[in-house]
Amino acid sequence: MSDIMRPISIEALLNWILEEFKRSGTIFGVRRLYKADPKKTLALFGEQMETPVGPAAGPHTQLAQNIIASYLTGSRFFELKTVQTIDGEDLPVAKPCISARDEGYNVEWSTELRVPDAYQEYVKAWFVLKLLSREFDLGSPNGFIFNMSVGYDLKGIKTPKIQSYIDQMQDAAQTPIWAECMAAAQKMLPSFTRIDADYLAQIDPHISRSITLSTLHGCPPAEIERIALHLLTEKHLNTFIKCNPTLLGFEYARRTMDELGFDYIAFDDHHFVDDLQFADAVPMITRLRAKAAEQRLNFGVKITNTFPVDVAQNELPGEEMYMSGRSLFPLSVAVAKKLSDAFHGELQISYSGGADIFNIKDLFEAGIWPITVATTLLKPGSYQRISQIANVVTSLPYPTHVQLDLLKLDQLVTKAKHQALYQKSIKLPISPKIDEKLPLLDCYTAPCRGTGGCPIDQDVPAYLRYVSEGKYLDALKVIVDRNPLPFITGTICVHPCQTKCTRQFYEGSIDIRGVKLEAAEHAYDELMATMKKPTIKKDAVKTAVVGGGPAGLSAAYLLAREGMPVTIFEKDAQMGGVCSQIVPEFRISMASVQKDIDLTKFMGAEFKNGQAAPSLADLHAQGYTNVIYAIGAWHHRNLKLAQGTAINSLEFLKATRQDKMVHNPYGEHIVVVGGGNTAMDCARVASRLPGVKKASLVYRRNKRNMPADEEELYLALDDGVEFLELLSPVSLENGELTCEIMELGERDTSGRRKPMPTGKFTKVPADTVVSAVGETIDTHYYQQIGIATDARGLVLSDSATLETNLDHVFVIGDGNRGPATIVEAIADATKAAKAICEVHNEHYEQTNLNVDRTVPRSKRGILVTPGSGISQAARCLECSTICESCVDVCPNRANIVVNVNGDPQIMHIDRMCNECGNCATFCPYSSAPYKDKFTLFNSEADFYDSTNQGFYVIDAAAKECLVRVGEIVETINLNETVMDIPNGLLDMMETVIDDYSYCLAD
Ligand SMILES: Cc1cc2nc3c(=O)[nH]c(=O)nc-3n(C[C@H](O)[C@H](O)[C@H](O)COP(=O)(O)OP(=O)(O)OC[C@H]3O[C@@H](n4cnc5c(N)ncnc54)[C@H](O)[C@@H]3O)c2cc1C
Ligand code: SF4
Ligand code: SF4
Ligand code: SF4
Repeated sequence: MSDIMRPISIEALLNWILEEFKRSGTIFGVRRLYKADPKKTLALFGEQMETPVGPAAGPHTQLAQNIIASYLTGSRFFELKTVQTIDGEDLPVAKPCISARDEGYNVEWSTELRVPDAYQEYVKAWFVLKLLSREFDLGSPNGFIFNMSVGYDLKGIKTPKIQSYIDQMQDAAQTPIWAECMAAAQKMLPSFTRIDADYLAQIDPHISRSITLSTLHGCPPAEIERIALHLLTEKHLNTFIKCNPTLLGFEYARRTMDELGFDYIAFDDHHFVDDLQFADAVPMITRLRAKAAEQRLNFGVKITNTFPVDVAQNELPGEEMYMSGRSLFPLSVAVAKKLSDAFHGELQISYSGGADIFNIKDLFEAGIWPITVATTLLKPGSYQRISQIANVVTSLPYPTHVQLDLLKLDQLVTKAKHQALYQKSIKLPISPKIDEKLPLLDCYTAPCRGTGGCPIDQDVPAYLRYVSEGKYLDALKVIVDRNPLPFITGTICVHPCQTKCTRQFYEGSIDIRGVKLEAAEHAYDELMATMKKPTIKKDAVKTAVVGGGPAGLSAAYLLAREGMPVTIFEKDAQMGGVCSQIVPEFRISMASVQKDIDLTKFMGAEFKNGQAAPSLADLHAQGYTNVIYAIGAWHHRNLKLAQGTAINSLEFLKATRQDKMVHNPYGEHIVVVGGGNTAMDCARVASRLPGVKKASLVYRRNKRNMPADEEELYLALDDGVEFLELLSPVSLENGELTCEIMELGERDTSGRRKPMPTGKFTKVPADTVVSAVGETIDTHYYQQIGIATDARGLVLSDSATLETNLDHVFVIGDGNRGPATIVEAIADATKAAKAICEVHNEHYEQTNLNVDRTVPRSKRGILVTPGSGISQAARCLECSTICESCVDVCPNRANIVVNVNGDPQIMHIDRMCNECGNCATFCPYSSAPYKDKFTLFNSEADFYDSTNQGFYVIDAAAKECLVRVGEIVETINLNETVMDIPNGLLDMMETVIDDYSYCLAD
């Protein structure tokens, strides 16, 4: 494994393209080739482009194959990766260099290749595009534009290295690489169907007539102007100069970031002070425009550069990184507006800065073009995302000249400040990764089901597919196979599955929970009418379940379904536990809870309500062999106040639920103390009680650091609950709660910032204080039965079965874990039930796989935009059938799909990888594909330079390979029996030699 990329020769590149297409119908993994509309072209620099969109100077324009993949998906304007005089190994880039999970960050800034090598990549790409446009009929061979990007100071630009780069980009005819491209194409002419020698002869060697100047932060205005003048007058290049968000001033940028929730992005004002000032920019641009007009050249600005910010939370190595993506958009459009106003909309803007499918129409309609993208292409779907962007732009009328619509631009600036799209979640992000390591083979997985996702392994892709096809009964059968509470979980499950959903990297996680409810609502009656009642097994032992909440109901359902006799003892008059006694009815109705209760009843479980369960000895005496305790966690922690007392949250919720929120004995000002989900419920109930003037929530941290789920926080905010953050309650006297004001200190191990006392105090009006600072389990209850507990008072049990020290006695649910969740209660119930009898709840494992792989593949790279009419269920990417996120997101195409005996497997190609780290961000496993997938090396030296498991083909004809599997390194012959290497890997190597030999050539 090395971060040095090795470019592929033009001959190998052409061979790769043609062979891959022949084999798999793809080119560098691109499945859907974009055909340009021949009627649409836009003129710029005296050239034509079919779509005014493409990749920004960055990871997607570094290697020839990157540019080719961009073209194939619809790009027609290419801003080539910046070159500057310091290059190659003299410019070490810390790795990983990209972090693009949400807003983007990078620490690389110009090509990692030597400038002559970068030049060759651009020429090869240009040549190949000329061939592919014709061969695959993708558009006019003259329908795209290459735009150079150079940095950073005039001295560097005037070095022979950069001067010759510029000159040879303007005319490559006499360069060796041009001759090499021509020779390779001629040699391969028989492989082409629409290209002949005449066509080759007329390929235009004038690769670029334009340049974007990228100067370092702090570059003095006079230097920027000198360089631009040099480019205009001495190099005769159409010129864009890059402008920075720093033109907005520190105050504006800081305020905007804070208001949008990007308050954690750290930067001070030094770049704002050092960079080009707006007052200097306007006259400078005016002079340069005049000079360009004199030279009959285009001049414009590139808006914007990425934004330098501090590395504050180990996002990337080093101290400074460059921010891009959705957080940059509000700043970049504001710069666009500010400059456009100054030039009455006549200044051409080449735009980049958070452009994506959601704003492309607005940008283009505001008169902004060309538009380049980077961060959106780093996310799953990647290059293929360009097609959708190109389709939007081509559906709009193309302008004939530069004229920005200042009103539309103004609206865009306002929109960017208010749209949810540009707002960061109020909560700390949860890792999308599952807690599992990447296997070498067969890695496709649905992360919604993985460890850290759904605790009961619901067959999510299966039921989403059924719902998307309108097959609700099939979907509900899938759901209840593992989940006895479809209504309760369909309504109030905390849905950990959604935190892992791959679709979050598109336009948002799928509402998996909502789809479950949809299936339940549509098909429940039919399911009840058609289900067969289980018959009780003869001689089966009896089980008593103590507690009829989610855990107890689930255990009873699963056992009863297997024909086991079960009785639930519930002390409340109703089954349902917290769901029927505590959770407010506006969150889940009793009618819904009742449907789930009836499901368990249908299975044959006996219910004994209205009195506490008999003692363990009595249960045994009544013939119950197994006893499952599912008593919840109802003990309340007390809020310590120097004066006055708070009421208990569970009592408050229970009383208001029983009273149907008709009376209000609590006063006009109700203060809830706490920051968890129970606190949100209390505050929301309080806000609804008659006569309440204000329901407030007091918490010692801020919203971002509250434990409540994001959804619950937003619902409380929507209900008008007043959030009083960073307050710690001290005493309650005379209708006022005195609180100490806190401030946030260092982060603790959970990543949350610790609240620190300030010694300052404030008073909050409070007729009643509700304490929602957490519940605990009733340790004493267990101890008096003889169940062993640990030092924290939790029950000691076998983690696989939840059986306690007492034989056949189990503890599950909140009573086992402490306050937890409904779905975890079901998970516990499943474990205990499985310890008692064989539970058949995996009928639909295979249904998660779509037999037609083309269906999930066709969804990749297509974002669902508002108004598209695509249902939640239909958005599922069916990740267990097809993942390939690492293939998508690699800018360099260094992860490929190899079809081994009909099954797709991922192979990493060492020489194409620069260890940018992007595939590690999006692989659902807690692993990095570029380190952990089986790797193809193209030289022995590369093989030994790496610790990756993988192989180097020493002799393809003889099938001789140098292989590393685990710690073992050996030379093997695939024609002979090899004992110590898994067959799957042997098959993979053989397949690569036989069918993917184009990957082996240099
Ligand atoms: C206010 C609040 C809101 C919540 N919101 C959510 C949410 O939105 N989503 C989510 O996933 N989770 C939520 N939870 C957590 C969730 O309710 C629990 O994790 C879940 O109810 C645990 O199920 P359980 O069966 O273990 O316990 P419980 O629901 O507490 O059920 C225990 C049952 O045992 C009965 N019992 C106790 N002792 C005896 C006895 N000796 N004899 C007979 N019966 C007995 C009790 O009456 C009760 O009915 C919330 C919790 C609270 C407090
Ligand atoms: S896209 Fe579908 S299969 Fe993939 S994680 Fe989301 S719900 Fe699961
Ligand atoms: S394989 Fe991964 S680390 Fe390597 S270049 Fe591609 S995305 Fe970056
Ligand atoms: S991202 Fe790649 S390596 Fe990771 S699971 Fe998906 S296909 Fe496998």
